[in-house]
Amino acid sequence: MNVVHRNKIPPKNWNDWRWQLRNCVRDLAGLEKLLHLTDDERSAVHKLGKRLPLGITPYCAALLDRDDPSQPLRRTLVPSTAEFVRTRGELEDPLGEEQRMPVPGLVHTYPDKVLFLVTDQCAVYCRYCTRARMVGRQGKVSDRARWQRAVDCIAATPAVRDVLISGGEPLILSDDKLEWLLRRLRAIPHVEIIRLSTKVPAVLPQRITRPLVRMLRKYHPLWLSVHFTHPDELTRECGTACARIADAGIPMCSQTVLLKGVNDDADTMKRLMLGLLRFRVKPYYLHQCDAIAGSAHFRTPVATGKELLRSLHGHTTGYAVPAFMLDAPGGGGKVPLSPDYVAGRDGDELVLRNYRGEEYRYRER
Ligand SMILES: *Cc1c(COP(=O)(O)O)cnc(C)c1O
Repeated sequence: MNVVHRNKIPPKNWNDWRWQLRNCVRDLAGLEKLLHLTDDERSAVHKLGKRLPLGITPYCAALLDRDDPSQPLRRTLVPSTAEFVRTRGELEDPLGEEQRMPVPGLVHTYPDKVLFLVTDQCAVYCRYCTRARMVGRQGKVSDRARWQRAVDCIAATPAVRDVLISGGEPLILSDDKLEWLLRRLRAIPHVEIIRLSTKVPAVLPQRITRPLVRMLRKYHPLWLSVHFTHPDELTRECGTACARIADAGIPMCSQTVLLKGVNDDADTMKRLMLGLLRFRVKPYYLHQCDAIAGSAHFRTPVATGKELLRSLHGHTTGYAVPAFMLDAPGGGGKVPLSPDYVAGRDGDELVLRNYRGEEYRYRER
């Protein structure tokens, strides 16, 4: 049972994304009103200090279970003291992003694409955030002078044909600020595609307004990378938001972080991937959870992700199968970790094992 009495909130407010942001749960008092907290959750919120803040939109709060601390979505949004436990190999900046910024906020790891961090604010703060070191700090990340330097750097780098706008959450910027950025990026001749990386359809679907998509569609080819975690996020409101995006001709790909006890079982993963297809979102990446400080309680062995891919491939629509990726610590980039269907070689023959485990042979010459 849930205590956000959304029926008591006028729809005019509930459906207003700015009202949702103004009314985010950000402290212990707000959280106590919402959930029956465990001692562990309570002391974690107490101890947060300057670490990754608490942030839950009323919309998301309405999806949380008041009594069950093991509910998947609750675990991803409500802090636990496990976040303070640092284990071997964990880093504040696991992807070495800070060393790959030609100018502040622009991460250039690969030859022809850049990651542009345009804000450090989010609608909700995921407890497994890869950028926990920098988000929610009210820093100067979205200041115009800083954006302009990044745009100038992209304009001066003809190799860059793909700009991935991320953060933080780019879609909590106003339409005007977003358009300021998009117009300048679109004016650069060598920028072929622009991508926006967002969790808004899952946590603040009210943000996907008609004026927003009307503005976005002026900057085609524009794609959306949408962060989804669990099938519980696939609500009617989320479906409406995705339909609006798809109807504006904006292709959507999903990114999901594999999380222990949240989405690491075959049934949950399949429901999420098939649900995304119904919302016209192509499952893109399943990410091995980065080794950020305090992430041990969320991380699974790599074998789990491979098994999940095996449970999908062949058993359902091929579109539903994402690629399983591990972002190499220190800035090595993403490495695909595919389950192997090649059992070996026998002379000129490749020995294959299909999704049912049956052996087949293919003669190469
Ligand atoms: C993930 C990532 C990208 C985008 O990678 P794709 O595989 O093209 O989606 C770009 N830059 C950085 C630094 C990244 O981490």
